[in-house]
Amino acid sequence: MVAEDVASDRFGRQIATRFPPEPNGFAHIGHAKSICLNFGIKEEFNGRCNLRFDDTNPFTEDIKYVEAFKQDVEWLGFEWDAELYASDYFETLYDFGELLVTNGKAYVDSQSDEEIREGRGTVTSAGTESPYRNRSVEENLDLLRRMRAGEFPDGAHVLRAKIDMAHPNMVMRDPLLLRIRHAHHYRQGDAWCLYPLYDFAHPLSDAIEGITHSLCTLEFKDNNDIYRWLVHSCGFQRPPEQTEFARLELDYTVLSKRKLLRLVNEKFVSGWDDPRMPTIAGMRRRGVTPEALRAFCETIGVARKPARTELATFEHAVRNDLNMRVPRVMCVTKPLKVVIENYPEGRVEELDASYYPHDVPLTGSRKVPFSRELYIERDDFMENPSKKFYRLAPNREVRLRYGYFITCTGIVKDSSGEISELRCTYDPATRGGDSPDGRKVQGTIHWVSAAQAIDCDLNLYDKLFTIPDPDAVEEGQDFLSVVNPESLVVIERAKVEPSAGGDPIGSRYQFERTGYFVSDPVSQSGRLTFNRTVTLRDSWAKIKEK
Ligand code: ATP
Ligand code: MG
Repeated sequence: MVAEDVASDRFGRQIATRFPPEPNGFAHIGHAKSICLNFGIKEEFNGRCNLRFDDTNPFTEDIKYVEAFKQDVEWLGFEWDAELYASDYFETLYDFGELLVTNGKAYVDSQSDEEIREGRGTVTSAGTESPYRNRSVEENLDLLRRMRAGEFPDGAHVLRAKIDMAHPNMVMRDPLLLRIRHAHHYRQGDAWCLYPLYDFAHPLSDAIEGITHSLCTLEFKDNNDIYRWLVHSCGFQRPPEQTEFARLELDYTVLSKRKLLRLVNEKFVSGWDDPRMPTIAGMRRRGVTPEALRAFCETIGVARKPARTELATFEHAVRNDLNMRVPRVMCVTKPLKVVIENYPEGRVEELDASYYPHDVPLTGSRKVPFSRELYIERDDFMENPSKKFYRLAPNREVRLRYGYFITCTGIVKDSSGEISELRCTYDPATRGGDSPDGRKVQGTIHWVSAAQAIDCDLNLYDKLFTIPDPDAVEEGQDFLSVVNPESLVVIERAKVEPSAGGDPIGSRYQFERTGYFVSDPVSQSGRLTFNRTVTLRDSWAKIKEK
């Protein structure tokens, strides 16, 4: 569509888009879709894209949300051509109000909210005209000026467009343009007591900025008529055109700032940047990269038909990206001590270990200490192994990744009968993981050296909701009733290899055989903490089948 408009030079100017968030919450992954679309068009067609805060509601908006949106757009890797605020257009919008009144296209209505609502009619029946609809231009102007001057209380009068009370599109039945709100605005302070409605502010903001393509989500389809009516009535030549696209709806999440705010306020999560949140800030803290988010938006594409996106699609994009960029290290999540009885006490070897597998175009390696006392995963040992269990068991040999073959020779149990330690032997000839006599082992497991390993906490995140569409809870039920109580499981005292100890906060890894992780800012307070970004494979599908 844009390419055609470029070819025909339909607008006679540079292609221009905008991303217009309302600063009443943090950006979420749905916004990422809109950001990628609007800034993507700018990049593709050598156009421009404005970041415009649609801040016309004095009750819900805040500068902290403005800052968060700016940070998130930048983090995604986009640059806006101008940072603008709809509230900076209040004066201009007021002037358009006077212009419409002067041209007989708007009037001051003095009915109550209730009367206005009733007068609108229904989808099947026409509305009724307001008794104030035929006020003279002079009277309208006088009232409008006095509204602006603050002479009237909230709700006393409104400015309405004068269109058609029988219009088949309800939005066109004399929509409200300006209303009185004696309220403090986070940017404009108390300068205004007249606030524009979305249908008034949005099209004209686009037109003022010379936007060519105004892309918005489908719920604004009915607003397209008033959009066109206004930009034409206010005299814009080759005005912007609104086109709707389907919003992102992602399974197991809610994407509405209002609902996300409730999760924060009612303490279901630790904040807007809780790694379980579908916010960009949450995803960043979870370890998702901007490249993965952009790749995801590319994959889902832009269509007019509403559709839900499976979480697996998102996780696939994240895994694909992390797989190609993060170092592999070893971390034991549920440690079981192993003593290598034929390994000299006090000796520590430094084994060579590559950070990346062969199919990743990055190189780098670290040293991994090996000693007499190690930890392995508790789940990598079975006293009575089942048939398909190929890992460690009594009298069985396995390979320690980058290390040696070891054989389990004994089990130590505590008073409750729980296994507390394994006794093993190692084969010195298998250093590096191969046996000179060609002997094969069936399993390779990860491990850490007990003395050098670093204690850490792991935050294992799962879906925030238990049902795919939390917006579709039953009548009378609240979406908060389907929050997943197990969306966060904390594992304390996991053991990570020492190479991960000195890395900066926010470093990402693949913990081999376990998942992708990122170090969390709380690590600064001394306790190394990692957030699981995503598992290695989609385990949910398997669980559901069981
Ligand atoms: P929310 O209900 O989350 O507040 P919104 O549409 O009211 O959503 P805005 O801040 O007004 O949020 O939206 C800014 C831009 O982002 C708009 O152009 C809007 O259409 C777009 N947007 C919001 N949510 C989504 C989504 N889920 N998918 C795609 N685009 C979205
Ligand atoms: Mg909104």
